[in-house]
Amino acid sequence: MAGTYAGIVNSAVGAKLAAQLGLPRPARLRRYAVGAPLIEGPVLVGGLGEAPVAERVGDLLKLEGVDTVTEVAAGERVAAVVADLTEAAVLGELDALRALVAPALKGLRSSGRIIIVGRNPKGANGFAQAATRRALEGITRSIGKELRAGATANLVLVDDGADANVDAAVRFLLSGRAAYVDGQVIRVGAGTPAEPADWAKPLAGKVAVVTGAARGIGASIADVLARDGATVVCVDIPAAGDSLARTANRVGGTAFQLDVTAADAGQRILDHATSRHGGLDIVVHNAGITRDKLLANMDEGRWASVLDVNLGSILRMNEVLLADGGVRDGGHVVLVSSIAGIAGNRGQTNYGASKAGVIGLVDALSADAALVARGITVNAVAPGFIETEMTAKVPFATREVGRLLNSLSQGGLPVDVAETIAWFSQDANAGVTGNVLRVCGQSLLGA
Ligand code: NAD
Repeated sequence: MAGTYAGIVNSAVGAKLAAQLGLPRPARLRRYAVGAPLIEGPVLVGGLGEAPVAERVGDLLKLEGVDTVTEVAAGERVAAVVADLTEAAVLGELDALRALVAPALKGLRSSGRIIIVGRNPKGANGFAQAATRRALEGITRSIGKELRAGATANLVLVDDGADANVDAAVRFLLSGRAAYVDGQVIRVGAGTPAEPADWAKPLAGKVAVVTGAARGIGASIADVLARDGATVVCVDIPAAGDSLARTANRVGGTAFQLDVTAADAGQRILDHATSRHGGLDIVVHNAGITRDKLLANMDEGRWASVLDVNLGSILRMNEVLLADGGVRDGGHVVLVSSIAGIAGNRGQTNYGASKAGVIGLVDALSADAALVARGITVNAVAPGFIETEMTAKVPFATREVGRLLNSLSQGGLPVDVAETIAWFSQDANAGVTGNVLRVCGQSLLGA
């Protein structure tokens, strides 16, 4: 756990002082490790009415060997709660959520999970149902802000008829893969998910390309995709050739030196993936730069380079990568946005434009009839404060504030972003497209 503040409040003297002053103490988060159980139970599973999703989740947890309970006995500590409110139609029914979750909160284990499952308000039948469904979002985000000790709360909204697609989202959120995903909403829709033969290798047999893979978040994405079974083409600029080669060697993939702004970048990536690995299934557009200046001082060069690296290059590469003969049917495209693209950031009009544009692109591509017909999903992550060389350049005070202003009181790690990207890349996730998932520890920025 990096950071001056974290170091102080977790020291012997600092801890006492922090307790006296009521200052937050960042907890060590439970992160995924190969071979670790999905979660150490028990998990409280329940909900309103027939609670069809709770039943599915109960079965899933049984298969995984995780104990479940339907209520919390006095003094009992649970690791997670899965609350199925898919049948909530009127405000009064929200009390079922309070009654289920409240008794579990005091004894919730560290890095615990609250997962609420509801239906998409857009599919509601009438005003009361729409309001009730949307209320779940406010409850979830508020619980996220009340939890301590690395615990998180997230909401999964499932379309009618898509319950079978919810498993991958619940698995992800319960696991250590979602350590830094907090206070977020995941929308699950139609699609034909395919379960992997082995949940420890959900990307086995897939070929992925990751841009900006020489260092930081991109290197971590390559690590995690390879750990999950994919063959990874690692792309970065020639100037980063040495570290690019290190990443590629580590993950057993190939290094491909390429500036993503080159006019033929998409074609060259496709040719490389096809000739060396037989095709392409997963595209992760991660390469990005910042060139910060207040708009009053922003020159044309800073403006244009950020927009071109972070967004223009993606548009050009997609023309080839997403055309027939590009990414294989059933493939997955993941883009990297930022909370600066949601909330804006001082000195980052160029960067904010590019990262908001990424979200616009996800909206449009995920609704594109040709891509939907080919079963290609398009999603984005929007990282908050992640400990990388990019954020190490941020001035000290701003950096400490960025680290702490979130519900988990700490910055995230590149692996946290990488885990979410790897999850978006799973075939078990065919029902998840058009999502922009913040990996930000429920950052107050852009909340
Ligand atoms: P980083 O600067 O550590 O790494 C970016 C990588 O992209 C570098 O290896 C760089 O050489 C490569 N790259 C830059 N321009 C390129 C080009 N034209 N062609 C090919 N490769 C190129 O940054 P990071 O922190 O790892 O960020 C990765 C992504 O995450 C970026 O899109 C960034 O905007 C986004 N992001 C980061 C944070 C954070 O807190 N670090 C937060 C939000 C979003």
